[in-house]
Amino acid sequence: MSYPALKITFLGTGTSSGVPLIGCSCEVCTSPDKKDKRLRSSILVQSAATTLVVDSGPDFRYQMLRANVKHLDAIVFTHPHKDHIAGLDDVRAYNYFTQQPMNVYANEMTQEVIIREFPYAFADTKYPGVPDIKLNAITNEPFVVGDIPVEPILVWHLKMPVLGFRFGKFTYITDANRIEESEKEKIKGSEVLVLNALRKEKHISHFNLQEAVNLALELQVPKTYIIHLSHQMGKHEEVNAELPPGIELAYDGLTLAI
Ligand SMILES: [Zn+2]
Ligand SMILES: [Zn+2]
Repeated sequence: MSYPALKITFLGTGTSSGVPLIGCSCEVCTSPDKKDKRLRSSILVQSAATTLVVDSGPDFRYQMLRANVKHLDAIVFTHPHKDHIAGLDDVRAYNYFTQQPMNVYANEMTQEVIIREFPYAFADTKYPGVPDIKLNAITNEPFVVGDIPVEPILVWHLKMPVLGFRFGKFTYITDANRIEESEKEKIKGSEVLVLNALRKEKHISHFNLQEAVNLALELQVPKTYIIHLSHQMGKHEEVNAELPPGIELAYDGLTLAI
């Protein structure tokens, strides 16, 4: 089976509050290094024929502008926390230019929250100009978006099930603090793994840096990038320098060809 060549763009690599944090004057939030500026976590996945985004958080509009995404085929959701869904309203621009609904792929739990949080988009009588969204139900079974096959990986965010996604040799996992052994098997053989880690200290619903590093080493993935960082993680260059070979912090704007 041939898998299409992909370009991955890290649109955002920050935790729910972003970095800098509003009102914070710590050394990370005031760092002049562009790599210490992190929008809310999201990635763009592009084949020659298909463009999808994983999650549309509060920075979705600016992320689409910054990455110059003129055409978007679909949004694939990991889970319904606000920092991953808040920007969905801004699909209106794509609706306007294509006169087509935006394809959204989400599991039942996430669909319920989307319908509750954006009720006007699903009203029987819609106000003109509201987002036009086509919900596509996904489970833990593989699915295809355009020409991009996607394999969901179930991970745990404290008690909330979250979907990670494997795209060929690339696996993206955000908002997890635990992965069952059977789901770890789905990650093995990836060439690039993205894992969330909030900070160095322990956290209730996210891996910390050491936990993410341990998991990357356990899974023996050649290259791992860390996302969903809080300002508490420290400065990009300093933390990166402490990491083992093959493991790096991601940063906004990083692109990979896979
Ligand atoms: Zn979350
Ligand atoms: Zn999150």
